[in-house]
Amino acid sequence: MIGAGYHEPMAGTDGQAPRGGARGEGSDPARVKRSLAYPAPVERLLAELTRLPGIGKRSAERLAFHILKHDRADADHLAKAIADVKRAIGHCSVCSNLTEADPCPICCDDARDRSTVLVVEQPKDLIALEQAGMYRGIYHVLLGCLSPLDGVGPEDLTLADLIERVKNPEANAGGVRITEVILGMNPTVEGDGTTLLLMDRLHGLGVSISRLARGLPAGWSMQLASKAVLADAIEGRVRVAEP
Ligand SMILES: [Zn+2]
Repeated sequence: MIGAGYHEPMAGTDGQAPRGGARGEGSDPARVKRSLAYPAPVERLLAELTRLPGIGKRSAERLAFHILKHDRADADHLAKAIADVKRAIGHCSVCSNLTEADPCPICCDDARDRSTVLVVEQPKDLIALEQAGMYRGIYHVLLGCLSPLDGVGPEDLTLADLIERVKNPEANAGGVRITEVILGMNPTVEGDGTTLLLMDRLHGLGVSISRLARGLPAGWSMQLASKAVLADAIEGRVRVAEP
């Protein structure tokens, strides 16, 4: 019976085995398709990888073959890291930063100034600011920025949570009333659009609103700066002496 099973795919052909695989490739479309596809588990991996942002078919193939080439232990570590991150990590119910504990350690830190909230687009922006080690307030992570072309609207951001934190001290970390909101969106078209939206929504809520300074980065040359950076630097100039 097993033998019959193995021969079953040949049913419907003339019953002669193709020689060297050359025959039949043009005459049986189903057979051609089968021989050109990867084995099913590889196809499944490729399908999952191409669902990731920025990963096209070629990148997915490169990643899949890297996984296939290396030890099984490496693949197990990768699979475990993905499973662990989904199981152990969530968003802080106050600031929406990624965290193992809720509220996150930053929101829980009563040594920080919890009346000042710096709004950023993504957790990676918060990490960059924390690494600079200069800011002692707390944060709010929007988890994105306005991008109408990508279908991202205000309702896709954690904007409502921020407004609630500003209006209701109980919703903020430590029950502290927010007095200043600092807008720290990226200097992009989408970031600027998000800044305008937040300025509009926060207006009249009794908080001062500021924006991170932007312009020429320290250690840079003016000749390397783009027109947009120079325009920001001129607009954001700081007075250093009065007459
Ligand atoms: Zn938090």
